[in-house]
Amino acid sequence: MNFNLTSPSSMSSSEMDSDQETVQVLILGSGPAGLSAALYCARANLDPVVLSGLELGGQVSLTYVVENYPGFPDGIGGLEMVELFQKQAEKFGARVEIDTATEVDLSKHPIRVKTQNGKLYLADTLIISTGASARHLEVPGENEFTGRGVSYCATCDGWFFKKKDVVVVGGGDSALEEGIFLTRYADSVTIVHRRDELRAGPMLEERAKSNPKVSFLWNTVVTKITGNGSVDGIELQDTESGELRNLPIEGVFIFIGHFPNSDLFKGQLELDEKGYIKVDHRMRTNIPGVFAAGEVADPHFRQVVTSAGMGAAAAMQAGHFLDENIGYSN
Ligand code: NAP
Repeated sequence: MNFNLTSPSSMSSSEMDSDQETVQVLILGSGPAGLSAALYCARANLDPVVLSGLELGGQVSLTYVVENYPGFPDGIGGLEMVELFQKQAEKFGARVEIDTATEVDLSKHPIRVKTQNGKLYLADTLIISTGASARHLEVPGENEFTGRGVSYCATCDGWFFKKKDVVVVGGGDSALEEGIFLTRYADSVTIVHRRDELRAGPMLEERAKSNPKVSFLWNTVVTKITGNGSVDGIELQDTESGELRNLPIEGVFIFIGHFPNSDLFKGQLELDEKGYIKVDHRMRTNIPGVFAAGEVADPHFRQVVTSAGMGAAAAMQAGHFLDENIGYSN
């Protein structure tokens, strides 16, 4: 593959018309992986540009408290944490743009990335850290009542459920952590789980079970969300007997996992069967000069600390790539 920079004359006239910039490293996504990559690239004098994506700071910015990131024995707010990540990256010269990639062309170098703000980036290397998004239940009423009783973020929406009864769907760490958080506001939190055993770790399980506002509905799934303007109830099904029943409720918080934000790269990068970008242990995708880090490439660990580590590794590898193939990294 030829890694020479493409001269502007070889681009289509529509590309020439756009606001255009050539960068050594373009980073897609501003969560822990993207901002850690930015920090490492900035300290290597690679002048990285980060496109924030739709959610500045990524999923962790919506987390009330992070208790398992080393160095913060008392925990740290998710938003505060990513603000610190960003500040540190910017201190060394990273630039964070509030913009989102809408089109990528990985078929030639430099890599072309078009954005929502109408900009065209020509990037020598690309680090994809577009993260993951909340999975939906896909039951009737879910879309209709999203923002009107259905939520995927307790930190964002918990306040609206003061003295109300809510359900949390899911049995993983997120469901329990967010469910416990919701007890600050709600009168009761019922955790609806499809099995009779939690996926969540024992510490959260113990905390949830000892909270007087939390109760569990085992072997149960939500089959419908009902309402009139806003949520007023759900239909539940017992997974063993198949029996259906209605539960009056004002809030439904859904924490049933995530899917990787990799649609933009379909057909260009190798993805696994669930859509995660395939990377090797050096964060390399199947295309030279294109790296991926964090939850878009990690179906297993999905922790702030592991995403940050992947971001740092991708950045170091991008630096090596520039040294070896383009030869002008500082
Ligand atoms: P998760 O571990 O994948 O758990 C998803 C839960 O949703 C599972 O209990 C699953 O049931 C259930 N579920 C999936 N699809 C469903 C459906 N269609 N209908 C009903 N239930 C469904 O996801 P997560 O809780 O978001 O956690 C993701 C990762 O982040 C994990 O590695 C977790 O450890 C980590 N995390 C850690 C912390 C912490 O350490 N404090 C906090 C949050 C997240 P089954 O159990 O039957 O599969």
